[in-house]
Amino acid sequence: MSLAAEFSCLSDHDPDSLSADQARAFIRRQLTPVRTRERVALRGALGRVLACDLLAPFNVPGHDNSAMDGYAVRHADVANGGNTRLRVLGTALAGKAFAQPIGEGECVRIMTGAPPPVGADTVVVQEVVALDGDHIVVPPGQRLGQHIRRAGEDLAAGKPALVAGRLLRPAEIGLIASLGCAEVSVFRRLRVAFLSTGDELCSIGTPLGEGRVYDSNRYTIFGMLTRMGCEVLDLGVVRDDPATMEAAFREAAAAADVVISSGGVSVGEADFVKGLMAELGEVLFWKIAMKPGRPMAFGRLRVDGEEICGERGGAAWLFGLPGNPVAVMVTFYQFVREALYALMGADPVPVVPLLPALCTGALKKVAGRTEFQRGILSLVDGQWRVRPAAAQGSGVLRSMADANCFIVLEHDRGNVAAGDQVGVQLFDGLV
Ligand code: AMP
Ligand code: MG
Repeated sequence: MSLAAEFSCLSDHDPDSLSADQARAFIRRQLTPVRTRERVALRGALGRVLACDLLAPFNVPGHDNSAMDGYAVRHADVANGGNTRLRVLGTALAGKAFAQPIGEGECVRIMTGAPPPVGADTVVVQEVVALDGDHIVVPPGQRLGQHIRRAGEDLAAGKPALVAGRLLRPAEIGLIASLGCAEVSVFRRLRVAFLSTGDELCSIGTPLGEGRVYDSNRYTIFGMLTRMGCEVLDLGVVRDDPATMEAAFREAAAAADVVISSGGVSVGEADFVKGLMAELGEVLFWKIAMKPGRPMAFGRLRVDGEEICGERGGAAWLFGLPGNPVAVMVTFYQFVREALYALMGADPVPVVPLLPALCTGALKKVAGRTEFQRGILSLVDGQWRVRPAAAQGSGVLRSMADANCFIVLEHDRGNVAAGDQVGVQLFDGLV
């Protein structure tokens, strides 16, 4: 079914007033992830998506081992309700076990990671033990099995350590290394081409002519895509001229899985771009009930000469973002990010949580659209509070640079009073 037909089946969807959630859900339904896999060296897998389930070939840890520095003892010896004197037979080190078993009244000094000797079932931390020549005195109250990490406690042999779709972060890379894998199967990287449209745009490195602006969108888009691990293809600035635009979009679609353009979808320009897009593929032009970022185009661009089958289906996805620099970033983070992760094969797509914070000032908000204000979140007197960044215009990129979160004001919400709770989405995360 064509995109337009699919969209028109949704009786509650109006292209001239689509909620952000409806747009997000519609986009998600269209996308099928890339399938091509490749094997890469483990370090090269960082930020990629795992393509196969990874079963643990053995237990991790491979043997019981001590979680603390202390003494490996027999619990039966120390469970008498008072102090117990034990003879120290030797030392067990990580990687160098104490070979003999221990018997009644005996113990072994044990270091973290070392396997307890045969006969020992409990570790007593060194801090509570009194030394007495080649003996120790253990106080009462030791729990059976304490401070021993069990074989397979981290990963059991034969069980999936990670399943396909997992986005590989430092923890996953370490986990894979702990299984002894030097290479891993991941989905191929997504190729994303991007371009800016507008006669007023100058590329950096060239003098800024009268009435013109430097093209910043290609740099924010480059940054956002690179952070996501996409292969990027910068197609430069394209003039607002049908022939030039057509050539640029054809080139982009042939070269990439996804094409991202900025500018040219606002009301004044959309008509001419709409005509062009109708020639190139199927593209829906939406006015989304959100601020910033109201106009946006989504669809697919046919790839000349390619068959409508196979992984790319003979088409590249198009995200026609608005031109305003803040609107570009908001629409990227609210729609494109999630779509790209889905196309990359990430399952589940990593979500950015909406966290509650107190708003320090009153905010004007019109019910019936979702707003993404740029906020500065800080901890004041033990409470997370957010205030809007100074200038909230959709062209004021500094508001993004100064902010550390979006203040997300939901579709149905009206004005916000000082002290009200709002939802925030943090820009930065730990990993
Ligand atoms: P448009 O959506 O093309 O009507 O553009 C809306 C506003 O964003 C205009 O003020 C443009 O000059 C500005 N703009 C469009 N593209 C860019 C860009 N690549 N870099 C900086 N500003 C842009
Ligand atoms: Mg323009």
